Order: sequence, then structure tokens, then C-alpha cells
Amino acid sequence: MVNEVVDVEAVRKDFPVLQRKVHGRPLVYLDSAATSQKPQPVLDVMTRFYEDVNSNVHRGVHALAEEATEAYEAARGKIARFVGADPRGVVFTKNTTESINLLAYSWARPRLREDDIVLSTEMEHHANIVPWQLVQPEAGFDLRYVPLTDSSRLDMAAFDEIVSTGRVKVFTVTAMSNVVGVINPVAEMASKVRAANRDAIVVVDGAQSVPHLPTDMLALDADFLCFSGHKMLGPTGIGVLAGRVDLLDEMQPFLGGGEMISNVTLEGTTFNEVPYKFEAGTPPIAQAVGLGAAVDYLNEVGMDVVRRHEVELLEKAIPALHSLGRVTVHGPVAPEDRGAAISFAIDGIHPHDIGTIMDREGVAVRAGHHCAKPLVRTLGSAATTRASFYIYNTLDEVDALVDAVEATKRFFDR
Ligand code: PMP
Repeated sequence: MVNEVVDVEAVRKDFPVLQRKVHGRPLVYLDSAATSQKPQPVLDVMTRFYEDVNSNVHRGVHALAEEATEAYEAARGKIARFVGADPRGVVFTKNTTESINLLAYSWARPRLREDDIVLSTEMEHHANIVPWQLVQPEAGFDLRYVPLTDSSRLDMAAFDEIVSTGRVKVFTVTAMSNVVGVINPVAEMASKVRAANRDAIVVVDGAQSVPHLPTDMLALDADFLCFSGHKMLGPTGIGVLAGRVDLLDEMQPFLGGGEMISNVTLEGTTFNEVPYKFEAGTPPIAQAVGLGAAVDYLNEVGMDVVRRHEVELLEKAIPALHSLGRVTVHGPVAPEDRGAAISFAIDGIHPHDIGTIMDREGVAVRAGHHCAKPLVRTLGSAATTRASFYIYNTLDEVDALVDAVEATKRFFDR
């Protein structure tokens, strides 16, 4: 049967950590944009893997090695289906950050020259800025950023102007902002980039979008999609680079060592086929299996249903926060235009103080620059407070958020 809505109470029972208290109060966890909580089926699958199977993958002839390899490759298949990728184009990495570094070092560095532009945006997480900066001096390309409008959206006129040069070889963009929640029109932008330069590639940072929106690489028109397991109910230590097999085939490996080779002599090495060419050393096996279980869990709920649930939370939270005096909510007002990360400010109170007082109320939010300093600077501040939702959050927790903001104001007004 297809779910219509999230049965939040049933979902919450699957998350052991949500049963605990903080400072004597029930935990209200509103920090899923940083990392999500993990449901019991994910924890169980990983424990069972270590208890019943544990072995290294790919290079053993014994039963456990075969079972471990099967479990690892089955997870790859599930994750590929989840985002509409070819399993041979699904590379397991450590996280989104490593996936983007892999592209900067293995695709951009050997290919790009002074005439080329790598186009990122001012909305990006540092993970989609710094790797390009690291390889830029050697490759010599022009590193440009799409600026933001006053309402924290990508400035499409500026984007069109840069793209019209025909020099953009890499367009790399977040599908959903981790700070202001904006959902970007990735496919529309990708088609403009390709129309201006058919050799260009499109890289999508899906760290925030893949956990929260139905995702299809073809519909996104992405050549590469990067995301992290830990933000989508899976464990830490595993990320994904999903990409076009032909492009991966042409690329040099990023890291060298065991597993990624076909033959090694003292004079040189030939490489394994994709995706193994990019998986040097013992991979995060239990983590891949855990991420496979997380994908099963999300499929069971249904990604459309996940999205609908978060829109419902946003429909209540955004107007409620907007209606509070001295509170500014950054980013789009309409829930359809945004994801479930809400950055806000309270006039005259530092975000870290807000986070600390809210924590005393049992509400876990994040305060800081959210690893997106260029974006946060455009908001006229060095930091924001951010509340972010996921499938296990309830409408009552939206009330708890609003009450905690009010309590914070009262605390500082004393
Ligand atoms: N991009 C975005 C949009 C993110 O929100 C994050 C995590 N905050 C990252 C990249 C980096 O993810 P990770 O730390 O898992 O590599």
C-alpha cells in the first residue's frame, strides 16, 4: 500500500535517540540538516553485519567474504536506484566533501585551462567552494560564483551573463541550500550551461536535497551528484559520488592503493574498472550496508511523502516564526520553494546565545556560519540560528520551536 502521510508517531518509535531527554525535557531534535538521526532498522542491519558476516570485500574466496561483497554491492544497487543512477557510476566515498574533491582533482585539474570557467555559486557550502579553490592555481581556470539576489536566490541574470561566454566547463551547484533552504532550478540552469558549451559538465551537491526530495539524476540533468549517508538516516563515514560511467571511465583515480588496481608492477599500474577505480583501500563496508538500509527505510515511507510532511511542518513554522516580533526568517516564505532548513535571526541576540537558551528548553538547533560563510555574509551577519526538520519531527515540535524562540527573547529582555 502506498503511504499518503507519514505516520510520525510510528516513525518516531523507530528512532531510539528521540526517546531520550535533554536537560530533563523531551528532546526536540531540529538539527537534521547537520546530521539526521538513525532508525533501528539501520542500526540493526549494521550490528547484524558485524555479528554475522564481517569480512573484507572483493578479494576473498571464503563464504563470509562473498556474503560481505554481496551485501556491499546490493547496497550500491539500492542507492543507484534511489537517485536514478547506473550502479557502475556509484562510487562510495566518505561524504559529499570527498565526492566533490574527487571531481575537482580527477576531472577538473587535468582538463581545465586558463580559458575555462568553473562556475559555482555564493550559496554553496564550503564543500563546493574550497575543493575548486585548491586545484585552481595549478589548472589556472577562472573560478566564478553566481551572486545572490536580496532574497537569497541565485541571480539568474548574472548566471546567464557568465554562461553566455561559452567558457563554463563545470557548473557546480547545490540543489538545496543548507542555510536558507532555497531549492534551485538545477535542470533549467544545466540546460543553459549545456546550450552554451556542449563540453560542460554539471555537478550537483545533493547533500541536502537527496535526503528530503525525490531525486532522479536524469531529471536533474546532472552529470555528477554528490551526497552524504549521514544526512539521510544512514551512518557517518559513507558518501556517494553518482556519475556518468563514460566520464568516470575517462578520469584518473583520485586515491591510489589496494582494490583500485587491475595490475601493479614496480614500473606502473593499470586500474580496475569503475566504480572500483575510485574506491582505494578497504571501503566503509558496514556503512554502505547501513546506507542501503536507510534507503529501504526512506523508500518504505516514500520520498513524496517525506517531502509532503516537511512542507506541512514548514507551512506551520514559517508564518509562526514570521509573526514573532524581532524575528527575521531568511530565505523563501513559500514552502514549495524551500527545503526544511530554516535560518532565522532575533534582533539584538547573538545566534550562539539563541542556540544555548533554546537548548535549555530541550530544542536542539544549530548556530553559526553552517560552513557557508559567503552566503551567511550576504545576510548581513557572521552567523544564523538554524532549525531543520525531517520525517520524525511533529507539528507539536514546531510549537516547541516557537515557544523556545519566545522564551529566548524573554530571557534576554529580563
Ligand atoms: N553540501 C551541503 C549543502 C551540506 O549541507 C553539507 C553538510 N552540511 C555538505 C555539502 C558537506 O557534507 P559532509 O560534511 O557530509 O561532507
